[in-house]
Amino acid sequence: MSPQRPPLLWFNIFIFVSSLLLAAVVTPWYAFNYGLSWVHLIWFVIAFSFTNLSITAGYHRLWSHKTYQASPILKAIFAIGGAFSLQNSALHWSSDHREHHKHVDHDVKDPYSASRGFWYSHIGWMLRDYNQSTYSDYQNCRDLKKDKVVQWQHKYYAPLALITNFGFPILLGVIYNDIVGMFLVIGAVRLVLSHHTTFFINSLAHIWGKQTFTDKNSARDNGILAFFTFGEGYHNFHHLFENDYRNGIDWWHYDPTKWLIKACSWVGLTEKLRVTPQFKIEKARATMMLQNAHQKLNEMDASPSLTNKLEQEFESLIESMRDYYDSKMHLLQNKKQQVLKSHELEVLKIRHLQLKEQFQYQQQIWMDNVKRFA
Ligand SMILES: [Zn+2]
Ligand SMILES: [Zn+2]
Repeated sequence: MSPQRPPLLWFNIFIFVSSLLLAAVVTPWYAFNYGLSWVHLIWFVIAFSFTNLSITAGYHRLWSHKTYQASPILKAIFAIGGAFSLQNSALHWSSDHREHHKHVDHDVKDPYSASRGFWYSHIGWMLRDYNQSTYSDYQNCRDLKKDKVVQWQHKYYAPLALITNFGFPILLGVIYNDIVGMFLVIGAVRLVLSHHTTFFINSLAHIWGKQTFTDKNSARDNGILAFFTFGEGYHNFHHLFENDYRNGIDWWHYDPTKWLIKACSWVGLTEKLRVTPQFKIEKARATMMLQNAHQKLNEMDASPSLTNKLEQEFESLIESMRDYYDSKMHLLQNKKQQVLKSHELEVLKIRHLQLKEQFQYQQQIWMDNVKRFA
């Protein structure tokens, strides 16, 4: 006999089902009969961005992972946006999320474990009281219990959620003379899309994409998902370097959450943005490539000399990589402190350029080698 399943959470089921019906059935019917305008679309984009960024920049990168520090005013904005997104309080969300990182892919301890399948990790985990006993005291968020904004939002979560989810759309409806239309678009459609794009990080981002930096867990990097999730799709990087305020690290990576946090630092709303040393990132990337190449070599039943050559190239790459990033840091520190005379700085710069060329040369050899087995 299978063990008894936890009781259904009827309130959650009601929210998910009713919002989905309003968004997928009633809204198209209303649009067909009464029409919707550009004003609805513009306010949809504003509300969708506000709620999702409150989750990604606020709940996730600020409160769950403490990747930067924010001013109380920005925290309050995220707290209101978080209540508007109807994903429970920041304290509760962060507690779940910290368990997810700590026990990623564990069938029981990871609250939305991808090992239990797409449905469970996407939404199933919220339909039954699976985690009843685990988070009652939020022991893993003792730091957040001291955060006044987090405490305030946790205490007044219900009124805040009601005011934002009903009050805001109705207010827009009064202003634009279309209460029902605004409630459907800004209330229901925005909520459903906001919910499911966030949920995709727990489900799809653990199934679909590349394991660029580690295969120790199921998290994947996926540029398409990043587009719909304000940059959270680079989930493989995030699971390995969770203290980094960025998820997409390259300049072409679509990560609006990172851009928002950075832009806020220019006007004093955020500070102490944490980044992973580039050497660590590149080393993890190269190690993953080596591992994949090893696998291919094993499948090909390649000669030991080929495997040894690859190992040697890897060692040379890591050595030149370390030299290059060390010299980069050294140069930056000296530039900042301005303790060196100009000719001494010039010598450092020339040495740095030499190391850079050496590193790029090694990188080229490495990529040529690895591509042969990719
Ligand atoms: Zn995370
Ligand atoms: Zn994850």
